[in-house]
Amino acid sequence: KRKQIVAGNWKMNMDYEQGRDLTKAVIDGLQPSDALVILGTPFIHLRNVASIIKDISNLKLAAQNCHQEESGAYTGEVSASMLKSCGVEYVILGHSERREYFGEKDELIAKKIDAVLGQGMEPIYCCGEKLDVRESGKQNELVAEQVKTALFHLSAEDLQKVVIAYEPVWAIGTGKTASPAQAQEMHAHIRSLIRDQYGAEIADSITILYGGSVKPGNAKELFANPDVDGGLIGGASLKAADFNAIVDSF
Ligand code: 13P
Repeated sequence: KRKQIVAGNWKMNMDYEQGRDLTKAVIDGLQPSDALVILGTPFIHLRNVASIIKDISNLKLAAQNCHQEESGAYTGEVSASMLKSCGVEYVILGHSERREYFGEKDELIAKKIDAVLGQGMEPIYCCGEKLDVRESGKQNELVAEQVKTALFHLSAEDLQKVVIAYEPVWAIGTGKTASPAQAQEMHAHIRSLIRDQYGAEIADSITILYGGSVKPGNAKELFANPDVDGGLIGGASLKAADFNAIVDSF
């Protein structure tokens, strides 16, 4: 059985104290669960959150980006090895906001994935179509292109360390969730792409998360789908009670 995951993406929210308090509140409300819970925090929180969560076996730390190079003259950037040294185990890469506001394309994201894997961390690779693509019915082709460009250079062994997050851009922060059927259809499509390239055993082992306006009220019906292995949570990850309710939705 593949890993079930609920990952929070705080995005550019939470000052230092708020981040510490949110982490503690998540821990206080955590029920025993087989799911892995991940906190995706801004860089400034990483070291502190790592030390707060260190004794909780199913709670892990993610960064939201990293630079593709190992080190050097890249003012303002943070490398994979620097993240690793702070206790980070996962790195969210290719988020639609990185694509939209920072011009990230899948060729670059592929390099970042290599950097993260090279440090023994696991990428959470985000893909998903914008509204106009969904309306033209071309979402399967678009997501296939993204997944192939970003991931299909990897060996089977490395691919198995990648978590995929399908995040339709039209559902992010809009309150408009993909229907459970839309999510299931795309997740099955992504899994079939992996099956065609890497075989059934590997395809069945990859965790595919859904992201986009996941809330306590809709998480259960999304997670009930056979190919939806959990969620990547934005807004609702900023309130411990909501986030923990989503964790309890499997
Ligand atoms: P929302 O849950 O706020 O829609 O954000 C989803 C997201 O982008 C998670 O990475």
